[in-house]
Amino acid sequence: MRQTLIAGNWKMNGSLAANAALLDGIRAGAQGLACEMAVCVPAPYLAQAEAGLQSSPVAWGAQDVSVHESGAFTGEVAASMLRDFACKYVIVGHSERRSLHAESSELVAQKTLRALSAGLVPIVCVGETLAEREQGRTDAVVNAQLAPVIAAVGEQLAKIVIAYEPVWAIGTGKTATPAMAQQVHERIRATLAQADAAAAATVRILYGGSMKPDNAKELLAMADIDGGLIGGAALKAVDFLAIAQAA
Ligand code: PEP
Repeated sequence: MRQTLIAGNWKMNGSLAANAALLDGIRAGAQGLACEMAVCVPAPYLAQAEAGLQSSPVAWGAQDVSVHESGAFTGEVAASMLRDFACKYVIVGHSERRSLHAESSELVAQKTLRALSAGLVPIVCVGETLAEREQGRTDAVVNAQLAPVIAAVGEQLAKIVIAYEPVWAIGTGKTATPAMAQQVHERIRATLAQADAAAAATVRILYGGSMKPDNAKELLAMADIDGGLIGGAALKAVDFLAIAQAA
């Protein structure tokens, strides 16, 4: 049994004042929901998320983590620092980090391992670009992104969350149809099963890419879609909660 996870990715949005209202709204509406909820906030606001969400059913986390444990890495944030703020989750390998910061799948795999070592749950993002989909390379691209992660985590596979986020659907308003998303999710699970069948049955595979209140229900109804990684719609409490209610 996989509990649905609805995780928000605030990206580089927010302010102390705006976050306070958003966190209050999420906290108030999250009571009694069947799914698990989490928000991944910009690092400077982790203390605010911790203060605003503790003793609520909503978890919090970060959007990236350093591959290094500590030391002379200016601007980086260590996994142990995220744990200091009681983060549960950390996103790794978001397509914006892969494309804008040239993060390779090997680096993403090492970040995944670093997060696990600190007791964090990594949400590992994978997904193809529009050109790759049109060339029929979706499975090859996703498998190539997953392979180093599967190899790096070994027996810890059951501890990770995967987010399938077709790059062409992120922030564009274009969503994969439920059938298109399910097809990729099913293949991801099959790939995981080749490494560890028991883990594959329990790993949550989230869909991300313009998930909104009006399309969430049909996406979340698919057999291998175990939740959502939500960008734009996570910035409005009412929309984020509506997605969680659809789960
Ligand atoms: C994301 O950035 O992870 C994302 C899914 O964004 P959006 O929901 O805005 O497409």
